[in-house]
This record gives sequence, structure tokens and C-alpha cells, in this order.
Amino acid sequence: MEGSRWPRVTEEPDGVLTLEIGDGVTGCVLRDLARGFAPPPFSVRALRPLPPVPPGERPITVDQTNQSVIAGDTVVVKWFPRPSRAPHPAPGLLAHLAGFGRMATPYAAVYWEDALVALVTAYLPEARDGWEWCVDEAEAGRTGFAAEVGALAAELHLAMATPSAVFPDPVRLSPPGGEGAWRTRAEEALREALALTDGADGAWLAGRAEALRRELEPLARVPATPLIRVHGDLHVGQILRWRDGYAVVDFDGNPTVADADPYQPAARDLAQLTTSVDHAGQVAVRRRSADPDATAAWADAARRDLTAAYTRTLARAGRADLLDRSLLRPFEVEQECRELIYAARHLPRWRYAPMGVLRTWYA
Ligand code: ADP
Ligand code: MG
Ligand code: MG
Repeated sequence: MEGSRWPRVTEEPDGVLTLEIGDGVTGCVLRDLARGFAPPPFSVRALRPLPPVPPGERPITVDQTNQSVIAGDTVVVKWFPRPSRAPHPAPGLLAHLAGFGRMATPYAAVYWEDALVALVTAYLPEARDGWEWCVDEAEAGRTGFAAEVGALAAELHLAMATPSAVFPDPVRLSPPGGEGAWRTRAEEALREALALTDGADGAWLAGRAEALRRELEPLARVPATPLIRVHGDLHVGQILRWRDGYAVVDFDGNPTVADADPYQPAARDLAQLTTSVDHAGQVAVRRRSADPDATAAWADAARRDLTAAYTRTLARAGRADLLDRSLLRPFEVEQECRELIYAARHLPRWRYAPMGVLRTWYA
């Protein structure tokens, strides 16, 4: 019977993998992991000793890409319903970040052949993600969170930039003369956003195309700049506010840029984080009738405080060099284009958020 209640993995002729997680599977897998067993072709990369997990499971029900289950109020098992054989960044990053305390402690990565199928991490009690807590802050006009979250992002980057056995050489330098590919990538995103956004929004956007393109120009003249392993998908939805403070989750990388170099300027993550604060503001306007002008002012102040705390934290650690500020604005503009592309392709009702932000930026 051993292994009979592990998930079922099927592979289509085109190589697409599907994972089926039947009832009781999470508990069974955790019991097997506790005694160091995995039925081939499953295997386990242990990251930290798994604590005892009492019985009892409940699914996480917020908007999510994967399928996370809380077990025994002790661990979260994140199942990947569509596993991929492409190398997944999370296990390596989680091992590299062993000294970083502000994340859910990682216990194990579970593979089927070479495809990551699950990550087991600590459960953070009372956790709410930023699509809840940050929208609350926007509605209430409070900005106190921004300094804490900015410091958290800087601490994450400092940990990313600290050598470990996994990544002994974690800081690289971009080629002198700048990374031509960044400008190409950003301009491509702008072109796509313009092409995919129709109606009145599309017309408004077309009227700002030149202004947007000008914002991307600094990317053509980037001096040699440090590159680190970034989070890759660092928005407020990945920052949990839980019983003991804030924590970062979801090291799956950027779902919208295929083949992005895992080494990127720190400004990539920071730009995504600050723009997501703007998006939380837009959510507050749309869903909770927050005042648009007051919310725009809130977002401005929060972004400024977040960035200031981020830079201060790097500077105190003697690593101010990790942030090249000239990249921030171009990456923010690129991020808004990516949000529009994402909305057009996957989630049309999201379009209001990046459009709302762009309308406040280019009033
Ligand atoms: P996905 O790749 O599916 O987006 P995440 O790792 O971002 O997965 O997790 C999805 C959601 O599950 C988070 O937004 C959060 O609400 C909840 N969550 C994730 N990790 C934990 C944790 N360790 N403790 C409590 N809740 C968590
Ligand atoms: Mg997530
Ligand atoms: Mg994810």
C-alpha cells in the first residue's frame, strides 16, 4: 500500500504534466516525509527537519496560482497542479536564504522525476496577504506599513546578496555599457500593452505612448550595475502580514516573463513592489469606494516611504550599491505594461488597476 496515496501524475504526449491530489493525500505524504520515505519516481530535497504535524487539513482559499493546503495548523503544502520539468527557482533560493528569517521556514521540496510538485513550509498563523491588508491600509489612508515593508524587501535582497553554499557568488555585474536586452524587453512590453489594450483605455494609452517610451530610455545607458537573484514576483500579495509581523512568500519567480535571467537588478523587485502598492490603492477605490485623489496621495506617500526605508536599510548594511535608482522608473513603467498584458491575456477585469495607476501618473 505504501505510496498508494501520493498524488497521481500524468504526462500528455506533448510533455504537459498534471498532478491530481486526492483526498487524504497531503496527510499521507507528510507522514511518509516524516519517516524519510517517498515512492519512486517521487523524491525529496530536505531543507530543514519537518516538525511533527498533527492531523487535520484545510485548503487555502484566497486567489492563488497553485493549490496550497494547511496541515495540522503547522505546515503549508503548496501543490503545483501543473508541474514543469524546467528548473524551478524556489528550492535553490529557499536553501540559499537559510539565514533570512522573514519568510515561512522551508522544510522540503518534493519532486516527481525532475519536476517540482510540492513545497512544504511553515504555516504562518493569522496570515493575510497584501490584497487584503494593504487594501485596508489604502482605505484607511495609513502609510506606517511602508517603512516596514521597504525594510523587509531590503533585508531579502541583502540575504540574496550574501554568499551561501548554494550560490557562492551571488552578486554579478551587468556588462558595462548596460544591458541592451532590458530596453528591448521593456519596449516590447510597451508595444504589446498598446496592441492588446482596446477601447477608450487603448486610445488614452496610445496618446501617452511617446511619454511612456521616453521613460524607458534610461535603460539604454545603464552603467555596469550589480545583479542579484531577485524574488521575481514581489508584489504585496506575496507579503503576508501574520501574527508576528510581515513575511515574504512565493519564490516561484516571474510567471509573465519566460526565460528571464534569474540574475536581475534589485530595482526589478522594488519597482514591482512599489507599483503593487499603487494597485492596492486602485483596488480600494474600486471595491471599497475609497476617494481617488486621497488614495493617489496615499500611494505616493507610501511608495516614497517604502523606497526610503529600502535604501536606508541597504545603506546601513553597507550595500547601498545594490540599488541603481536610475532603473526604478523604467522598470515601474515596464511593470504597468506587464499588468496590462496580463489583464488582456488572462484577467480582463484587472485592467482597471494598471489603467488607474497610469492615469494618476500621467494625469
Ligand atoms: P501561489 O504560487 O499559488 O500564488 P503562494 O505561495 O503565493 O502561492 O501562496 C498563496 C497564498 O497562500 C498566499 O497569498 C497566502 O494567503 C497563503 N499562504 C502562503 N504561504 C503561507 C504560509 N506559510 N502561512 C499561511 N498562509 C500562507
Ligand atoms: Mg503567490
Ligand atoms: Mg506563485
